[in-house]
Amino acid sequence: MRFTEFNFLPEVLEGIEASNYETATPVQEQVIPPILEGRDVIASAQTGTGKTAAFLLPVMNRLLKNHVDGHTGALIVVPTRELAIQISQHIEGLSYFTHLSSIAIYGGSGGDNFVAEKKALQNGADIIVCTPGRMIAHLNMGYVNMKGLQFLVLDEADRMLDMGFQDDISKIIKALPEKRQNLLFSATMPDKIRQLAKKILHHPAEINIAISKPPEKVVQKAFVIYEPQKLPLMKWILKNTPYKNALVFCSKKQTVKQLRRELKQAGFTLEEIHSDLEQSQRESVLSAFTSGRIPLLVATDILSRGIDIDTIDLVINYDVPGDGEDYVHRIGRTARAEADGVAFTLVSEKEQNKFAAIERLIEKEIDKAVIPAELGPAPAYHPRQKSSGNRPKGRFYRSSNSRKK
Ligand code: AMP
Repeated sequence: MRFTEFNFLPEVLEGIEASNYETATPVQEQVIPPILEGRDVIASAQTGTGKTAAFLLPVMNRLLKNHVDGHTGALIVVPTRELAIQISQHIEGLSYFTHLSSIAIYGGSGGDNFVAEKKALQNGADIIVCTPGRMIAHLNMGYVNMKGLQFLVLDEADRMLDMGFQDDISKIIKALPEKRQNLLFSATMPDKIRQLAKKILHHPAEINIAISKPPEKVVQKAFVIYEPQKLPLMKWILKNTPYKNALVFCSKKQTVKQLRRELKQAGFTLEEIHSDLEQSQRESVLSAFTSGRIPLLVATDILSRGIDIDTIDLVINYDVPGDGEDYVHRIGRTARAEADGVAFTLVSEKEQNKFAAIERLIEKEIDKAVIPAELGPAPAYHPRQKSSGNRPKGRFYRSSNSRKK
């Protein structure tokens, strides 16, 4: 479906064209019309499906038509600073030919920003993207004016609930006018999201685009080894696999720090990213990585969702994620857009059951790579097959492309 079929204003179409979007993605096809009609929407869609533009474009179009000066038009609440920054970059691109103003409000960005944020929250910006904690900090000061708000967007709502933002979200909603259009996006639809949706949404259009499996073009391989073989294997992989940008995931920040130290000592050029870094440090590491100055980045799951860097051609899971969703998200960081990608997972003996649960979840037996002889003998892959206790957390939904009313 072409974007011209949505009846967007010319200045919105210009932004789409400048972003080089030719046809709408499935989520855009299904989400844009009900938003333009003024309906609430609940959509299960993961990052990489084009979901950001799916809500930004119709929201922008409606704000341009019903513009109210001096009032915030749309509030987009997201779980992480990285996602807030990414969405605000999306807004900048798509709204380039409009007069819409926007600001991203997130923690760790310093005093200067706080003043600008306060001004926007008092005097209105057309679109505000915020993380819950920072928004609460402003709300507590008493000057936030959301009187003219037309849209509330909750993006990655499941992640926000997982991160414990439920109360913050309720507080934010209390500060908004009752009459508004609500859009809720979530990669998964567990019961707690359904309950939240029931409280917030009115007769929503329901759209299910979630992809339960990693993209087909990601070549997945697992190395079944003993725990002490992980570090030597990492070095071997990095020396023997050609890559442009490689992203290594570890579940714990201590492991990230330690692995980075070890690899640095071994002569690799790399950086680390995790929640202990200041916002400015995270940004400069990410920008060094995306520009190619640093080819290798070790990260926690802070980077497993929402981050869209299309040069990543190798993802390595240094450990097996505890959450099946995180596996899909982690390896979905590679093979973005038209590119190909490879995803390796290092599976220690005690992680075998967890890995088998992920294989069941994605309904695919992942190829087991041959372990280089120089690393010595490796264990056989013998997970306990049927163990309900090993089902990964999180639920996945088939791509049904259905719109229920
Ligand atoms: P998202 O799922 O919102 O994170 O988007 C993933 C990537 O797809 C981003 O780089 C978008 O700029 C890009 N994108 C979104 N919509 C389209 C489209 N209709 N055509 C091509 N690329 C798109």
